[in-house]
Amino acid sequence: MNHLLETQLRECLGELYTTEPAFRSGRFRKFLSEIERVYNHHDLERSLLESAVDMNSRELHATNSLLEKRNQRISRLSTTDTLTGLPNRHLYNDRVSQELKRAKRHDRKLAVMFIDLDRFKIINDSLGHHIGDLLLRYVAKRIKSCLREADTIARPGGDEFAVLLDEVREMEDAAAVAKKILSVLSEPFRFKGHELMLTASIGISIYPSDGVDAVTLFRNADTAMYRAKDLGRNNFQFYHPAMSIKALEHMAFESRLRKALEHNEFVLHYQPQIDLVSGRVTGMEALVRWESPEIGFMMPADFIPLAEETGLILPIGEWVLQSACLQNKAWQDAGLQEINIAVNISQRQLQNPCFMTSIDTALEISGLAPERLELELTESAVMQETELTLMTLQQLKRKGISLSIDDFGTGYSSLSVLKRFTIDRLKIDRSFVSDISDNPDATAIVEAIIAMAYSLNLNVIAEGVGTKAQSDFLRENGCDQIQGFWISRPLPADQAERFLRECPPV
Ligand code: C2E
Ligand code: MG
Ligand code: MG
Repeated sequence: MNHLLETQLRECLGELYTTEPAFRSGRFRKFLSEIERVYNHHDLERSLLESAVDMNSRELHATNSLLEKRNQRISRLSTTDTLTGLPNRHLYNDRVSQELKRAKRHDRKLAVMFIDLDRFKIINDSLGHHIGDLLLRYVAKRIKSCLREADTIARPGGDEFAVLLDEVREMEDAAAVAKKILSVLSEPFRFKGHELMLTASIGISIYPSDGVDAVTLFRNADTAMYRAKDLGRNNFQFYHPAMSIKALEHMAFESRLRKALEHNEFVLHYQPQIDLVSGRVTGMEALVRWESPEIGFMMPADFIPLAEETGLILPIGEWVLQSACLQNKAWQDAGLQEINIAVNISQRQLQNPCFMTSIDTALEISGLAPERLELELTESAVMQETELTLMTLQQLKRKGISLSIDDFGTGYSSLSVLKRFTIDRLKIDRSFVSDISDNPDATAIVEAIIAMAYSLNLNVIAEGVGTKAQSDFLRENGCDQIQGFWISRPLPADQAERFLRECPPV
């Protein structure tokens, strides 16, 4: 029996014991043995009642009324989500089962909807749980406003809502409700001085075509919801059996990714960064690849998003950090010129309370000086401005580690934040660089970023430089360094070492 249940049981029995003389007798033991079979509070109370029925009827009346009162309170608590006052998963499943019986009798269709808020975690992490909780209440109200009296809305947990549409004639009826929900959620939420934008992904399953029991309908709506997420979020999808096959493939891929670290299947490639004035190699960016024996060679875009979603980015990121630091130290020890090693850091890593420890460990086991490590952060990770991010960035700076903003120009950056976090350099996103000279807007953006970096006293590097013309333009406009196929593709460690040897400082 779990601890919570046991506490409730003791409390309950304690109350009975002090009010009812019959329970001070040896029959108390009988209670315990019968109750051990029950699994939730609601059933626990029912079981208590049933046990009491077996007993002397003289005490039964008083016991019954006491139990009834507690029964009502506990049943309310065990079926309602306290934050929104909506039914929880337990009550929702009950309702779906009841409605299914009715739908079967009257040969009607039902729709089960699974609604998951997109990127809600960012709101919770950046503005705090208090704001997150308030927002969930407003969301519940808005979803409710799209439903009819006979429909059911529940909050099974976290940022998820479930809806049961009581009577749907056609799939279009469910589609119309889903569209309405997406539309009301897309209106800004204004409260406590915040204006928050939110979207949701919705999965829908239909009785009887997608399942005839509550569990199957719920699972299939969930699968359809994931499909909606995959398709870019802020949309709804009806369940289709092919989705289950995709979900299985997804699970198999995830379990392969989990084993990849154990089996040493990741490798780092290194892309040189060149100073535009001296022509000297100033650094190498470490870029991870996955050599899977089953699937083949994979680029980061094929697996980093899943690693981020599942949290596997934390151990993978640790491995990358350690391997990159070890490699840079090995090059130094081999007598090659000293360069910086740049490592990409995901938002999830930066927000992990153990991040500083993994940095310390990587520096310690490699013996690399912190000044030779550079971390590439994304604009969105830095702009979160949570207390933890702020503290982490300050600690990193104090250690002497360099910080750069990767893919600069594609997100939203505030200049004051860049200054406050003492960022060392900006990496101009390759989408602007590749458009230099073809697209006047891109050219103007590149010029503006360089000018801004200059006035903020930041170093600036352009990534994705693919031609001599781009390189010349960047040099003429005062860009400090370049990185891209024009200089070299990312190289395996041995070839990167050769590149370093053949490109001595000028
Ligand atoms: P990024 O950090 O912006 O890395 C630069 C990407 O641009 C690399 O792609 C590189 O191969 C590519 N690139 C460099 N020069 C050129 C060029 O001239 N033309 C073109 N078309 N592409 C060029 P890659 O290796 O596929 O990495 C993609 C992204 O994956 C990286 O973008 C980074 O955001 C992420 N990533 C790579 N390794 C790691 C890692 O260890 N941890 C994390 N969290 N993310 C990583
Ligand atoms: Mg990068
Ligand atoms: Mg980049």
